[in-house]
Amino acid sequence: MIGRIFSFPRVRLTTLPTPLEKAERLSKELDVELFVKRDDVMELAFGGNKVRKLEFIMGDVIANGCDTVVTSGAFHSNHARLTAAAARKLGLEVYLVLAPPRKPTRNGNLLLDELLGANIVFVESRDEVSEKVRKLAEELRAKGRKPYVIPGGGASPHGVLGYVLAALEIVQQLYQNNARPRYIVHATGSGATQAGLVLGTKLLNLDVEIIGISVGRSRKEACERIANLVNETAKLLGVNITVEPEEITVFDDFTFGGYAEIPREVVEIMKRIARLEGLILDPVYTAKAMAGLISLVERGYIDKKSTVVFIHTGGTPIPFQYSDEITKYM
Ligand SMILES: *Cc1c(COP(=O)(O)O)cnc(C)c1O
Repeated sequence: MIGRIFSFPRVRLTTLPTPLEKAERLSKELDVELFVKRDDVMELAFGGNKVRKLEFIMGDVIANGCDTVVTSGAFHSNHARLTAAAARKLGLEVYLVLAPPRKPTRNGNLLLDELLGANIVFVESRDEVSEKVRKLAEELRAKGRKPYVIPGGGASPHGVLGYVLAALEIVQQLYQNNARPRYIVHATGSGATQAGLVLGTKLLNLDVEIIGISVGRSRKEACERIANLVNETAKLLGVNITVEPEEITVFDDFTFGGYAEIPREVVEIMKRIARLEGLILDPVYTAKAMAGLISLVERGYIDKKSTVVFIHTGGTPIPFQYSDEITKYM
């Protein structure tokens, strides 16, 4: 049934599969078999999890004959940067509606958005985003453009398809390493990554727990969003699967004060992993997800000796955007 996915329009934005590497030293420290899925390693504009979603979303944009994409996010949004890059590669016009948190330092993702020549519209608060996006799309239509609105984080059923396929990719790579996954752990934000992995492993009939570490939302809200995305995507695929929010695993105790808050503990995790594995994490998403993974092993939620996959979802430019916050704790 997973094969139906190949009939959806898709554009290639990177070479897949991304690497899967064993984190030898961290595995020893935690007494688990830990693999890192390197979705931060991709050709398109520093890569990240949004690229997999955009392959299917942009396929849909082109299939619908649209010439402009409109999306939204925070000032530091990886999704905004990658949407801009994908749009340019495909010769499309791009509008980004960007909101706080944090001041718009012209570095990291925002610098790249400017280099990519995205039309950037700033709003004062996150509450203004959806109204601004709606108005912008209306104005573009009035001017004769054909805009396609991509939800924040690429959290649409087409976007979710990218991570349905990623589930298949991860399992194949682990089998080549003579391993079977017990847990897949990653940062969860808009919920599309987790929804794809949940649906993908269900379609493959795999007994693996997908653990989302929330970077901001409450567990309840995250689980409802994710279950909803799974069910909508199942419908799009024409498969008879539904899940309830209670079947989704999300931890919301590793937000460290809220979305994009960067206290000392987050920088400590970035330093620890950089110095142990030579692996660079970002302070908004992947460092918090890694903090969750380590803590769940220490608490005994994740069994010792078990095979765990940590998805490095990207965010490579973010440390540069938040260098002041990070260097405070060096
Ligand atoms: C967007 C993002 C996430 C969250 O993914 P969702 O699919 O929105 O839940 C995690 N990590 C990074 C680096 C991201 O940019």
